[in-house]
This record gives sequence, C-alpha cells and structure tokens, in this order.
Amino acid sequence: MTTFDVIIIGGGPGGYVAALRGASEGLKVALIEAGQLGGTCLNQGCIPSKTFLKNAEILEEIEQGKQRGIIVKDVEFSMEGMVAYKNSVLNNLRMGIQSLLKTRKVEVFNGLGSIKNPQEVEVISNNEKTTLSTKNIIIATGSRPFIPKMEGLEKVKYHTTDTIFDLKTLPSSITIVGGGVIGVELADVFHSLGSKVTIIEYSNRIIAMEDEEASKVLHKKLHEKGINILTEHLVTSMSEENGLKTLKVEKKSGEKVVVSSEELLMAVGRTPNDSATKQLGLAYNGAFIKVNDYLQTNISNIYAVGDVIGGYQLAHVASAEGLTVIENILGKQKKIDYSIVPRCIYTNLQIASIGQSENDLKSKGIDYTVTKYNLFGNGKAQTLGKKDGFVKVFTDSKYGEIYGMCMVGPYVTELIGQGSAYMSLEGTVYEMAEMIQPHPSLSEIFMEVANLSIGKGVH
Ligand code: FAD
Repeated sequence: MTTFDVIIIGGGPGGYVAALRGASEGLKVALIEAGQLGGTCLNQGCIPSKTFLKNAEILEEIEQGKQRGIIVKDVEFSMEGMVAYKNSVLNNLRMGIQSLLKTRKVEVFNGLGSIKNPQEVEVISNNEKTTLSTKNIIIATGSRPFIPKMEGLEKVKYHTTDTIFDLKTLPSSITIVGGGVIGVELADVFHSLGSKVTIIEYSNRIIAMEDEEASKVLHKKLHEKGINILTEHLVTSMSEENGLKTLKVEKKSGEKVVVSSEELLMAVGRTPNDSATKQLGLAYNGAFIKVNDYLQTNISNIYAVGDVIGGYQLAHVASAEGLTVIENILGKQKKIDYSIVPRCIYTNLQIASIGQSENDLKSKGIDYTVTKYNLFGNGKAQTLGKKDGFVKVFTDSKYGEIYGMCMVGPYVTELIGQGSAYMSLEGTVYEMAEMIQPHPSLSEIFMEVANLSIGKGVH
C-alpha cells in the first residue's frame, strides 16, 4: 500500500491550497473531498455572494445613471439568469482547481474521509471503503451554517447560505436573521434586486465586530436604501402559513414586533465540521479543534487549518494556514501573523479593515493616534459619484507605526491590500506619506491620511 506524505481532508481554500503547495514541494499528497472542490468559499460562500453582489451593483449603477444623463428603460432582471451566470463562474473556478491538482499529481478522492488513527485515513465513496496510509494528516473540513434552537423553527422552510444561491425566483420579501457580514451582504443583494428586506440582529449594531463608526455609516446607508434593520431584537418564535414566514420578535426593551416575509435566511454564524475526527481524542477550544502556533493538534502528525479551528473564518486565512502547515511538515517552524489579516465586507458601500481596531487599542490601554480622511476630498471618488466614506489610520503616537486601518467606500476591499503591504513590511505613516500614488485614484487617500497624520495634510 502507498504511504502518502500527507493526506488532506477537505478541498476548500485551506485544504486544496495546502495540497497544491505540498505537491509542488515534492510531497506525495492525497486530497479527500466529500462535496465539491473549492469548499464553502467557492460553492456556497465568497464567490457566489460576490457574483450576486455584482448584479446588485449593476442595478444600482443603472439607477444612479439618471444623475449623469443615462436613462435606461425597461430594465429586466432574471433570477434564473443570475443563478446561471453564478454557476458558470463556479464551474470555471472549479475546473481551474481540478486541473491544477491534476497537473501537480495530487491524488483526489471523492468521498467522506475519516481518521482511523494517526497513520490511517478511511474514505467512503459509493458505499465502498478505502483505507489510506500516511505520515501526516491535515484536517481542513471547514464549517457549516449554525442553526440556533428557536421555537417553531423546525416547522418553517428556511434558507441558509447552502441553499440561498440557488433560489428559483426572486422573493417579494425576505427576513435575514443575523446582521453580521453574511447577513448585511445578502441584505444588500436582495434589496437591490427588488425584495423587501428586514435584518434582525440581537446586538446593538450590525457588523458588531467591526469599527463602530464604519458600522454606523453602513447602517445609515442600508437604511437609506430602504432596508429595515432591527438591532437589539431577539426572535422568540416563528411559524409558517401558506408559504408566509412569520417571526415574533422582541426588542431588548420589551417591545414586541411581528415580521412576515416570503423567504427566511438564517445567517447567525457557522459551526465546524468535525465528524471525521470526533472519535480521535483531539483537544478542542470550545467547538473548534485546538491547534498550537504551528497549527498542530495535540496529536503531533495531525494538523488542522481553516474554519474548523475557528478564529477569523476567512478564506484567505484558511489558505495562509494551509501553506504554513506544509512548511511545518517540511521541518520549518512557521507561524501566522494574525495581526495583519485584512477583513472585508462587500456591500455597496464597502468596508475593509486590517490590524487592530480602535476598540482593541482602547481595551489594551495602548496609547494611539487616530487620523481620518474623508473620501469627499478625493477627485476619483467624485468622478465615480461615490464620495461617501473615509479612511482611518491608527498609529503609535510617538513613531508613527501603523497599528491598524479601517476604510469605508468604493473598492476599499481592493485598496486594503495596500494597507496589508504597509503593515506586513512594518511601514510607518512617514513612509506611507512618501509613496507617490497615481492621480486621479482612490489610492491617493493613503497619501492624504498619512500626511494628515504627521501634521502635513495636503488637501
Ligand atoms: P470550507 O471552505 O468549508 O471547505 C471544507 C471542505 O471540506 C468542504 O468542501 C467540505 O465538503 C469538505 N469536507 C468536510 N468534511 C469532510 C469529510 N469528512 N470528508 C471529506 N470532505 C469533507 N471568506 C472570505 O475570506 N471572503 C469572503 O468574501 C467570504 N464570503 C463568504 C460568504 C458566505 C455566504 C459564506 C458562507 C462564507 C464566506 N466566507 C468568506 C468564509 C469562507 O467561505 C470560509 O472561511 C472558507 O471557505 C473556509 O475554508 P476551509 O477550507 O476552512 O473550509
């Protein structure tokens, strides 16, 4: 029987990226995937949501064209067309992964993997069991939607992100339980497509983990668009009659509200897929598999990456972890620097952050300076007609070291990559101020905010 250098369970951005890197490094690699290559990110997450968000953006731009002399008559939208387009995007990307794995000679097994012991992994495919032998194992089984216990939920036909991207028709109305990143992105999508949208969020603000000001600006924008946002509201029970879902909701202050809609999306978080490993005696950190700084579990030749270990639960973090584990299997002692992970929200007024937030700095008692530059002063933002937003940079008050950044506005999910570069190269605001940025461009806001921060504001 062949002994693999590494067997990876799960073909999402954590697992397949590790497989590609492992094979490039000359390791004999097996990848086991029970569903589709690309995992949640490609099939039910990042890529379908961003494809839908582009449709929403096109429709909003057509509407905004009126202010610039463009009048488009008889705009029609087809749910079927949007889903078909999304499927073609997913197909292209899946084929790309498949072909890369083939070229690099990764052995791909389509089936359910489970770890029998630290040297053996079993794959079940079409009721047939195969046992594979290995020196190392990477658990990259990801996560699935978390469904909380709620009175009446079992009798209601609700969606999760596993099903929402394959809707056949556009709902006239949709209630989204959960005002986190996924909730607000999909609220923006459905509103722009024409549905009446309500978000129900228990905490006192949407995207509660992000910068408070950014959260307020997004709330205002979504509210102005016409999305009904109920913060500090708890769903107490739900029911369904003739396809209409009715949620009884209670405000923290005691006030009761009833929300009815054609569709219901539960978006309250994700829970790890760990059934493949449950029986092994792995250590856990709450619901998530516990790993050390080198992403090793308490069994030394078994590593875990991505959503299954918790933390950021982002695709680029899962991939970075997958690459790091391969380095560690090869004998290096590599750690991830989680302090420079970019975090993005792709609503049509985007939010992107990196490094420490103002709340982090305050709670740690760190002495910091915050400098803010409004997008209104940026020429390119004016030409785009997208002048709402800002960039904030949090710096060390003495030396100008960059602790973190938060950006709100058009394409900031692209711009934050520049923030990543400054921070990972340990740049200061003095260096950021010296960078010559193209004009007119949104990138100029880095130069502007950095100059402001050192007392030499330009515009
Ligand atoms: P997954 O991508 O979940 O992959 C795990 C794979 O393992 C799955 O394919 C599963 O079928 C397989 N598997 C599980 N158990 C077994 C088993 N026993 N045997 C074989 N195979 C198994 N992140 C971002 O960075 N940017 C975004 O814009 C973004 N948008 C998102 C939007 C939505 C709607 C959602 C739901 C998520 C989004 N995410 C985004 C999060 C991102 O999708 C995840 O962080 C990422 O997919 C995690 O990667 P992973 O490899 O850990 O796991």
